[in-house]
Amino acid sequence: MDYNMNNLIPFIPPSEYDRVAEQFLEEYCPEALKRPMAVPIENIAADMGLKVQYVCLSEEADIYGATIFTDGALEIYDPEDGLYDTKVFKRKTVLIDPEAVKKTNVGCKHNTLAHECVHWYKHRLYYKMQKFTAPRMARFCKCSVNQLPYATEDENIMEGQAIGIAPRILMPKATFIEAASQYDIVYGKDNWQAIYGLADLFDVSKQSVMIRLEECNLL
Ligand SMILES: [Zn+2]
Repeated sequence: MDYNMNNLIPFIPPSEYDRVAEQFLEEYCPEALKRPMAVPIENIAADMGLKVQYVCLSEEADIYGATIFTDGALEIYDPEDGLYDTKVFKRKTVLIDPEAVKKTNVGCKHNTLAHECVHWYKHRLYYKMQKFTAPRMARFCKCSVNQLPYATEDENIMEGQAIGIAPRILMPKATFIEAASQYDIVYGKDNWQAIYGLADLFDVSKQSVMIRLEECNLL
């Protein structure tokens, strides 16, 4: 794996996303590369040392997840008081906003969790090495439903990697194609039976299955 040595962002072109997802599974759940199954992403996150908390991250519910790379404070939203509040979190904390997750086009908690695992797996060096002027604050990435206007180019690159790799972890190419071959998927038809069946088998959303079928040239 190559890194950009100036900022420690890994260089991962989209053609490598499947390979990175396979490397991740070889390390954390090799069984998922042998047979079609629901990847136990909660257990994998726990094995990686990540602790998940479900909190409200923004008033507009447009930030669905965050991974915290260094101990420190982070602003979260309190829907009861209608106010933002600063709270201290430990590194390796993953925050998920369940309301905002519903607004993403692959809206399921498993995909969000896989997405945050990719950030920890591939992007922790970047955040560790960032020059930081506010030591009390945590270093973290925020994952939004739509691209944030203040996101930097570095952040957009890493966000693109996490968006691309997460569904490939939950539906690894070879076993996904193997499972999909059990159904008669016909181009131009709605194929609901296959989509429901695969969503159930891999425990992901139907939208996620449709995107994956298209990526694998099956739809
Ligand atoms: Zn993200």
